[in-house]
Amino acid sequence: MAAAGDRLESARIRAVAAVDDYAAELRRVEGARLGEGLIETRALKDRVEAVFAEGLRRFDQSGEYAADGAIDLVAWLRAKCKLSGGAAAERVGIARQLQHLPQTSQAFATGELGYQHVAVLARTAEHLGAAIVRKAEGSLLALADTMDPGQFTGVAKNFEHRIDAQAALTEANRAHQRRYLTISEPLDGIVRIDGLLDVEAGALVRNAVNAGLPPARDDDRTPGQRRADRLVELCQPRVVVGSADGAGPRPHLIIRTTVDTLIGAAGSPGAELDGGVIIPAETVRRIACDAAISRIIGKGELDAELTRASRSTPPATRRALAARDRGCVAEHCNRPPQWTDTHHVKHWIDDGPTTMSNLILLCRPHHRKVHEGGWGLQRLTTGRWALIRPLPRSRSA
Ligand SMILES: [Zn+2]
Ligand SMILES: [Zn+2]
Repeated sequence: MAAAGDRLESARIRAVAAVDDYAAELRRVEGARLGEGLIETRALKDRVEAVFAEGLRRFDQSGEYAADGAIDLVAWLRAKCKLSGGAAAERVGIARQLQHLPQTSQAFATGELGYQHVAVLARTAEHLGAAIVRKAEGSLLALADTMDPGQFTGVAKNFEHRIDAQAALTEANRAHQRRYLTISEPLDGIVRIDGLLDVEAGALVRNAVNAGLPPARDDDRTPGQRRADRLVELCQPRVVVGSADGAGPRPHLIIRTTVDTLIGAAGSPGAELDGGVIIPAETVRRIACDAAISRIIGKGELDAELTRASRSTPPATRRALAARDRGCVAEHCNRPPQWTDTHHVKHWIDDGPTTMSNLILLCRPHHRKVHEGGWGLQRLTTGRWALIRPLPRSRSA
């Protein structure tokens, strides 16, 4: 053991010397060769991450981290390896999943697959179980080879959705649960805004604050300053309320999806929001439910079919709804019409008509509860609707 430890120490000294040597050579190159050198530097770092992952797997199994007083491996990594909680948890996830993903493990060790792609695969394996990912490992690795990590995350999310729509919905609901916004008290003349949104809300906010860009020629504000100014503009009352009955122009989201996803067929793929973010089928059904706020487009040959199928609530119907419902119809909710979506009691994709008898106004949180949350609706004699808590789902992720 001591001899192996000594050999490791002398190998480490040689590796440090090699890094010094490499750094000195990198400093001598310029231009295109420097660019190549940077790419190779990242590849080297990924090789070292692969070595780290393999060692971390064995260290995890040994339980040796407890000898340092750490309660778990993540805590040990934070304390000893200068990693944030998130970065530490990601590495533990990789170390644990890789032993069940032989092709990924192999490609990582030889440098064919980069660290970030491995992280995406490990996360997918954590969500679905490594056995399911292992069955599709070859085709996922082929896709990883042609995509950057961001694009590959989209592919992996779509894969998860196909395998387990319920798990994907649970995850999206968990993401939604994490939403928050804080606006600090002024300090040194500055107010700090900080928050998290789910992908749909994030896309709406991003589209809204990016509208009006790019700038005029003599506009010397930075993009960040323009977004900040736009946000403040949007908060001024004349912009925020289209019209009191909510019939005015609504923000637009563009979603790519298939008919299968819209009708909620088992095994259907997720839908794609602007920028390639994947959202669950239930979210698409909710957004499509009030087609006034969205444009749903199909993939290839489905375009014609969906264009025919999708519909928007005519402004006159919307005004009549505002007069009848006077806001969200959920019991005890008092949100006004301009904060509501039009909900089809029987979804139009299931042949429900876009007419008054099949339409009610629901605020966004209640609309979300009905679709993604699976809550039922029951008409009350008062003309309002009670929300019925869903039965526990038979399976969850
Ligand atoms: Zn709806
Ligand atoms: Zn409501």
